[in-house]
Amino acid sequence: MTNKEIAASFNLLAKLMELKGENPFKIRSYQKAYALLRKLGTPLTEMSSEEIQSLEGVGSAISAKIQELIDSGKMKTLERYKAEVPPGIQKLVMIKGLGPKKIMTAWKELGVESATELLYACNENRLIELKGFGAKTQEEVRKQLLFHLKHQDNFLYAAVKELAEELIGHMHDALPKRRIEFSGTFRRKMPVLSVVHILVENSGDLDFATVGIPDLDVQSSTPGIWEGTYRETLPVKIEMTGEHFELDWFISTGPQPFVDSVKIPAEKASELEIFEQLGLPDMPAETRDLLGLRNDPPSPDVLVTDADIKGVIHTHSTFSDGIDSIEEMAKFAKGLGYSYLGITDHSQVAVYANGVQTARLPQQWGEIDRLNALDDSFQVLKGIECDILSDGGLDYDEETRAGFDFVIASVHTNIKMDEEKATQRIVKAIEHPHTNILGHPTGRLLLGREGYPLDMMRVIDACAANQVAIELNANPYRLDLDWTWIRKATERGVKICVNPDAHAKEAITDIAFGVIIARKGWLEVTDCLNALGAEEFLAFCQK
Ligand SMILES: [Zn+2]
Ligand SMILES: [Zn+2]
Repeated sequence: MTNKEIAASFNLLAKLMELKGENPFKIRSYQKAYALLRKLGTPLTEMSSEEIQSLEGVGSAISAKIQELIDSGKMKTLERYKAEVPPGIQKLVMIKGLGPKKIMTAWKELGVESATELLYACNENRLIELKGFGAKTQEEVRKQLLFHLKHQDNFLYAAVKELAEELIGHMHDALPKRRIEFSGTFRRKMPVLSVVHILVENSGDLDFATVGIPDLDVQSSTPGIWEGTYRETLPVKIEMTGEHFELDWFISTGPQPFVDSVKIPAEKASELEIFEQLGLPDMPAETRDLLGLRNDPPSPDVLVTDADIKGVIHTHSTFSDGIDSIEEMAKFAKGLGYSYLGITDHSQVAVYANGVQTARLPQQWGEIDRLNALDDSFQVLKGIECDILSDGGLDYDEETRAGFDFVIASVHTNIKMDEEKATQRIVKAIEHPHTNILGHPTGRLLLGREGYPLDMMRVIDACAANQVAIELNANPYRLDLDWTWIRKATERGVKICVNPDAHAKEAITDIAFGVIIARKGWLEVTDCLNALGAEEFLAFCQK
């Protein structure tokens, strides 16, 4: 065990004790031990216990704990605290600038157990109302978390897209005559990736080390491959192709199972010709992942695109936990070219999200009627994100639910269930006559929280039998339904609705990330519920 590891144990111990509000003097002594031990030159493992005890600030108690760590690799006191605190919270306390009090509040009040969950809670404006928080603090916490998550091994495509495009722009400037393209997982727009892969055309004479790209730090190089980081955060792999750019591009784009399964054709062919020779349509990179799993791709022309989406479904306003009014949301959606907007605030049991009480519904519906009367070129629909109760029932009474234009049914509470219970609960909600769309079906958060376990095929079959669409939640942290299920759902006749779940007007643009995932799952326009016009959408919801 190294000094650094031993020091880190005391650091974590101090943080966890702070979280639990323990004796400040004890906490202070562990913080001091941490500061001293991490800088100590002599390895503690080579010192006698007398020598350790004589170090400044290390008394017999701390010395005994050090000895315990050296002998057993563990410290009982620390293990005791660790057992009481979820692993995600243990990581959260190590993030600079959050502070134990705030973490404790978020954990106890919101049930947040990881950095991603906390970030998601910020996006849903959950922190604003908490004691000791406010809009400003929420924004600070959000920034700290974003910074922290950027420095992880894996990251979201959505989080690095702009940075990656900036880098390739610099590369085009530095090497104007050469072909330079994204490849690998980034080109395939995988929702989570670990490196941005860039391919550079080789004309045999380039020493990349001599090409100055601003903010690109090359950390290792082997012939033809340079690895490093851009702007200190984005891991990049820059690779020189062999003689045939297009063939190398096709192969390195992957996915591996697909590339392995085909007979690589003539070297000089373009990607288009390669697909032709394979007897396949020219599949855009983001749609190739399913080619590794099945060999019946539709023509790319029938796959959904951004331009096909007509309605913005699943949005929150100031009536629950959104930060923009219905009017602001509608104006923004119209400005983006959409023709209708489904407002779906939280239902009444979601008190943590300021869910709409029955008594406030007439006011909300009145506001929607007022807006619709003002503008007949854009329609606002009276929707609701209705909580699925623990037993699979829906929030509100029969009569109230019947008043909505459409109902998204979602699980938000009691998410720790076994597969059988969770599946039964969801299936029961799907069978409810008022349910039109199943919201974020598994509740997962990418890089943050596994979804509840579900027998997805049973869920899909229940949707098919009850004319219920499944949401593809377009928030980059959710992207739930997972793309691997989309085709299985549409084959059973289930429609998919690509929804931003926006809690602020700008988040409506997340639909683009949903469309990428929809294409990855081979969603055809005709199977996309919100590619329909408002009237047809409403007709679907009248079952
Ligand atoms: Zn929800
Ligand atoms: Zn929502």
